[in-house]
Amino acid sequence: MYLIKCGRFFDGKEEVLKDNIEILVKDAKIVEVGTQIACRGDAEVIDLTGYTVTPGLIDNHVHYDLVGPEALCTYAFTDSDEMMTLNTVYCATRALEGGFTTVRLVGSALAGFGQIDAKRAIEKKMFPAARLLVSPHALDISGGHWDFSTFAVSNPALSEFMENRCFGTGNGVDYCRTIVRKYVKYGADFVKIMATGGFASPIDNPTEQAFSDEELKAIIETAAMFGKPVVAHAYTSELVSKLIDFGITEIEHAALMDEETAAKMEDSGVILTPTFVPFEEIIQNDTETLAKKNQSYKEKLARYGDRLIQTRKRILGLIEQRKMTIGYGSDIVSAYDNWDSWREFKAWRDNGISALRTLVAATSVNAKIVGREDLGVLEKGKTADIAAWKADILNDHEAIRHCDFVMKEGVIYKR
Ligand SMILES: [Zn+2]
Repeated sequence: MYLIKCGRFFDGKEEVLKDNIEILVKDAKIVEVGTQIACRGDAEVIDLTGYTVTPGLIDNHVHYDLVGPEALCTYAFTDSDEMMTLNTVYCATRALEGGFTTVRLVGSALAGFGQIDAKRAIEKKMFPAARLLVSPHALDISGGHWDFSTFAVSNPALSEFMENRCFGTGNGVDYCRTIVRKYVKYGADFVKIMATGGFASPIDNPTEQAFSDEELKAIIETAAMFGKPVVAHAYTSELVSKLIDFGITEIEHAALMDEETAAKMEDSGVILTPTFVPFEEIIQNDTETLAKKNQSYKEKLARYGDRLIQTRKRILGLIEQRKMTIGYGSDIVSAYDNWDSWREFKAWRDNGISALRTLVAATSVNAKIVGREDLGVLEKGKTADIAAWKADILNDHEAIRHCDFVMKEGVIYKR
């Protein structure tokens, strides 16, 4: 048992910091939250009176099969599945050190299901690492945003070999139904799809529809039969609107949508995870970081930059209105270390969103989004995932960069 004495306390739900709160943890659970808890038995006192205590944070959009920015274009060719699985575990250990106790993996270049092995190894406490929720690949069509064989289109024999070995790339309604069933069979928590092209990939485009309407419907319908959510990467109004009509539950990015579609999203109750970090360089005109992006990314940012800036304003409005479920997802893949989930906090802050509004997204809202409502809130009965920060959470835009205390399921990993 631990009795944690908090300096400032954020419960994950209310946009307020409270003083002099104590948390009693027994085994993996929070058993009491209050002031002057009568300390029963032999609870060890953890003095965090000089810190701000929050729930363990959740990042709902990460890619952990590669470690850093250096190899984005080629790692599918140079790294084995085994290496990508090790990369996943490594990133998850760094995430935990950073106060992120849960992360959702939304797509890898693995041919097989190694990220589910990583999840299981962490669940068995083989590694001190963030809890993983996994879609083993991001489903895509031949030539789509997540078909990594497109980096070898000048060598069709190699490209075909690479495409065919990956479970996540395929075409046709039958493929779409089968792959979802295999995901369920091998233990996926949810299904990630690339509904449009994207930015960092070489031959597709963020305004193109990837899967056909029939294929999209087949994926969403089959996943629903097993109670698995489908999370769609989508940029444009046309596709976001279409996916809502087809029964999608969550959209990632939506970074090129118009006013009308934003309103439709709001009315439909669909979840949005806007992932600010990948587009922050264009929003903040950060030429130094832009220079590190690959050529395809740079060209597309030049082409769609104005629309990205317009849509960002729309999304900030949606966050401020607090009517929609909007998640916290960093989507770091091309300029920084992939476990640097604090960067999304900085991005929300730099865009004028308050610290506590941002942290609500990274805690209770994300817990709901990832289907783990035992997480993200500090109250009686919840799982004891707790973080603490010396930095000034309210005013320092990089406060989340340095975490000073981490507990996951009642076990202290950093103090
Ligand atoms: Zn992503």
